[in-house]
Amino acid sequence: MNPEGDCPLNRFLLSGLEEIESRGLTRSLSALEGPQQTKVVRNGCELLNFSSNDYLGLAAHPALKLAAMAEWERSGFGSGSSRLICGTLAAHEELDHAIAEFKQTEAALSFSSGYAAAMGTIPALCGAGDVIILDKLSHACLVDAARLSGAVLRVFPHNDLGKLESHLKWAASKYPDGKKLIIAESIYSMDGDRAPLREIVDLKERHGAWIFLDEAHAVGVIGRQGRGLADEEGVADHIEIQMGTLGKALGCHGAYIAGSTPLRDFLINRARSFIFSTSPPAPVAAASRKAIEIAASPEGDALRAKLWSNLRYLQSLLSRKDAASAIFPILIGDESKAVETSKRLLHAGFLIPAIRFPTVAKGSSRLRVTLTATHLPSEIEALVQALSL
Ligand SMILES: *Cc1c(COP(=O)(O)O)cnc(C)c1O
Repeated sequence: MNPEGDCPLNRFLLSGLEEIESRGLTRSLSALEGPQQTKVVRNGCELLNFSSNDYLGLAAHPALKLAAMAEWERSGFGSGSSRLICGTLAAHEELDHAIAEFKQTEAALSFSSGYAAAMGTIPALCGAGDVIILDKLSHACLVDAARLSGAVLRVFPHNDLGKLESHLKWAASKYPDGKKLIIAESIYSMDGDRAPLREIVDLKERHGAWIFLDEAHAVGVIGRQGRGLADEEGVADHIEIQMGTLGKALGCHGAYIAGSTPLRDFLINRARSFIFSTSPPAPVAAASRKAIEIAASPEGDALRAKLWSNLRYLQSLLSRKDAASAIFPILIGDESKAVETSKRLLHAGFLIPAIRFPTVAKGSSRLRVTLTATHLPSEIEALVQALSL
C-alpha cells in the first residue's frame, strides 16, 4: 500500500492533521544526539535544556549506568514475560523492596510507567457505584484511569477545598454504599504548584474517603531524602495509595504504588496494566534501585540543595514568589504565540517547548521552564536574559 495514496484512512488522517495544524497545535518529534542532560545537541545545534524532568540530573549519572550494566551481566536484558508468569526477576523484587523502604510503607509494587500505574490501580480500586473526585488539573493518566474505572466522576476546580468538600458530601448522600476516592497530585505538572495536602487529608478523614496521591514531580525533590510532599507535610501515614514515578527526578523509567501489603497483593491480582504486560528489563529496575539509593544518600541531599539553590536564584531573577517546585511555567496564552516564542528561544540556543492544548486548557499555552541540580548559575542568567529579549 502506498502511504501517500488516496485511500479512506489516509484521507481521514490528512484532514485530521490539517485541522490540528490550522489550530496551531501540531506536534512532532525531534531526537537528541546524546544523553539527557543540561547541554544537549539536536539537529546539530547545542542547546541549553530547560525542559527536562530529570530534576536531580541522574539520567546520565555514571552510577546508574554501572548498575544497569552489572544487572545486564546478571540477568540479561529482556524479562521474557509478565511478572505473574515468569518475568519476576530478582531485580524487580529488590526494586519493590527498595521503594517500600524509601517511602517507609509496608509494601510497594513497581509498574512499567506512571501511566500504567494509574491505569492499573484506579480501576482496580473503584468501579460502578463508587465516586472518584479529581482535581481539575490532574494529569491525563489519572483522568483516563478514572474514566476507565466506570465510577461516577466529580471534578473540583484546582485546589478548591470547598468544592472538594461539597463533592464529598454529595457522594455520601447519593452513593452511601460507594467508595470515595480523592485523586490529587503533590506538584501539578504544568503549573508547578502544590496541593494543600494537609487540608485534603483532613477532609478525606472527615468524610471517610481514600486518597490516591501522584507524587510524580515531588519524589526526589521534596521531603526528607526526597520522599515527596506527603513526607514533607508529615501526612504520609494518612495517604492510602502513594504513586510516584522513576522516570523524572530518579532519572530512570517506570513508576510505583506504595502502601499496605494488602494493597500490593490486591494490585498483583487486579491491576490489569501490571498483569497483562511484560515486566521492564532487569537493568532498568536495577538502575531505578540505584537512583533511589542516591536520592536517599548525602549525595542526594547535595543534589537537592543545588536544585533548590538554582530554583531560588531563578525565582529572584524573575521576581517571582516562593518557588514551590522545579517547574516554572511562563504563561503566554495563545497557542501560536507560545510556539513562536519557543522557536525564538530555540534559535537563541534554549530548549523550552511550548505546552499547549490538550496538555493544558485552550488559551493557556505556556513555556514550561524546568530546572535541574546540574544547571549552572551562569546558564540560569542566560535563560533570564533570553526570556526578556
Ligand atoms: C509524567 C507523569 C505521569 C506519567 O508517568 P510516566 O512514567 O511518564 O508514564 C503521571 N503523573 C504525572 C503527574 C506526571 O507528570
